[in-house]
Amino acid sequence: MKGPTYLDNNATTRVAPEVVEAMRPFFEDLYFNPSSMYEPAQQAHNAIEEARRTVAEALGGVRPQEILFTGCATESNNAAIFGTIAANPARRHVITTCVEHPTVFEVGRELQRREFEVDFIPVDTSGRLDMGAYVRALRPDTLMVSLMHANNETGVIFPVADLARITKETDPSIIVHTDATQTVGKIELNLEGAFKHVDLLSFSGHKLHAPKGIGALFMRRGTPCRPFLIGGHQEEGRRAGTENVAFIVGLAKALELAAENHDTDQERIRRLRDKLQKELTNRIPFTQVNGGETERLANTLNLAIHFIEGEGILYQLSAVGICASSGSACTSGSLEPSHVLRAMSIPFTAVHGSVRFSLSRYTTEEEIDHVIEIFPEIVANLRRLSPYWDVKRNAPRPEAAPLMHQTEMPAG
Ligand code: PLP
Repeated sequence: MKGPTYLDNNATTRVAPEVVEAMRPFFEDLYFNPSSMYEPAQQAHNAIEEARRTVAEALGGVRPQEILFTGCATESNNAAIFGTIAANPARRHVITTCVEHPTVFEVGRELQRREFEVDFIPVDTSGRLDMGAYVRALRPDTLMVSLMHANNETGVIFPVADLARITKETDPSIIVHTDATQTVGKIELNLEGAFKHVDLLSFSGHKLHAPKGIGALFMRRGTPCRPFLIGGHQEEGRRAGTENVAFIVGLAKALELAAENHDTDQERIRRLRDKLQKELTNRIPFTQVNGGETERLANTLNLAIHFIEGEGILYQLSAVGICASSGSACTSGSLEPSHVLRAMSIPFTAVHGSVRFSLSRYTTEEEIDHVIEIFPEIVANLRRLSPYWDVKRNAPRPEAAPLMHQTEMPAG
C-alpha cells in the first residue's frame, strides 16, 4: 500500500529499514539489562559502547566518553542548560535567540522566572541572527550561550562555528551550547574541527531515521555541567536510567547511513526542494519564501502565502494525502503565529498562511510533482474565501495590498 506524501520530515522521519534490522536483536535475544553481570548482558553493554564510538566518530572523532545518550533532544537541551547553571552558580547571565525551539526558548523564559538575566538575540526578516547584538550581549558575567544550529521551521542555519569562536575569544570560560537537532545527519559537523569551540551539542534520533525516544548530548571533556537525571550510575553517573540499548544501536546505525550517502542524498534532496520552491512560487502569486535569502537546510521550504489560513491549507492537503505543517499553533481556540515567524516580522497577511514542506532521502520526484500539481489549486480555492482577495484579478483587492507590508493586523 502506498502511504501518504510525507513532507514533514522536520517533525519526524520514517525509521530506516536498516535501523529496524540493527535494533531487532536487542528486542528479541539481547534484551538484558546492560548493567547486569552475566555474559549476555555484557553483549548488550558492548553494543552500547560500540554505538558510542560510532556516534563519536560521526561528530568528527570526539572521545566516546564525551557522548551521553538521552531520551530525546528536549532532554538533551534541558540537561545542557540546567546542568550548566547548576554547576556554575557564580554567573547568572545567559544568551540565546528569539527563534529557538521551545525546548530552549521556554527554558530561557523559565530562567528569567528564576531571576537569571536572559538575552534573546533578534533576527532580521530573512531569519539571520543580529551578529552585532550578539557580540554586544556578551558580558563578563555571561555564563552560557545556547544557539540553535538550524531552525526547525525555516531551515535557516546560524553560523554557530563562528559564533562559538567569537564567544571563546571574548571569554574562554563562557559555555557554548548548540541545539543541532535539525542538522545532525543533514550537515557534517566536526567537533574537533570547525566546531571545536562548542562545549555542548544536542540532537535527536527521530529527525534522522532512528526512532523517537532516543537523543544524545555531546559534552566536551572538562565542561562544568551537573547531571540532570540523578539515580543510577549509568553513563558514568551523568545520566541515570537503564539505557535504551536497541534505540542507542538504532541511533548509531542511522548516523552511519547518513554518512554513507551524505553528499548524493543532500544534493538530491536540495534539487527536489528547489524544484518545489521554483514551481510553487511561479504558479502561486503573492508568495514569499521564509528564510529564502539565507543559508538554509537543503530539505526545508517554508512558504508564506498571503491571504490564506495555514490550518485551512493543511486540512486540504491532508484530504489529498499530503502531510506538511504550518507556522501557526492552535492554542486555546485561537491560531497563534509561530514565535519564529513573528521574530522575522513576516507580514500578518502571510504569517498565518505559512506552510513548511520538509523532505528526506525517501522523498520521491513523483511526490514533489504531485504537490506541484495539486497545491496551487488548493490555494486558489482558499483565496476565494478571503475578504481581501479579488478572484477576477487573481490578486489582492487594491485596498488590501498595503497590508502585505504590515506585521500587525489593523484594529477593528
Ligand atoms: N530542537 C529542535 C530544533 C527540534 O526541531 C526539536 C523537535 O522538533 C527538538 C529540539 C525536540 O526534539 P525531541 O522531539 O527529540 O525532544
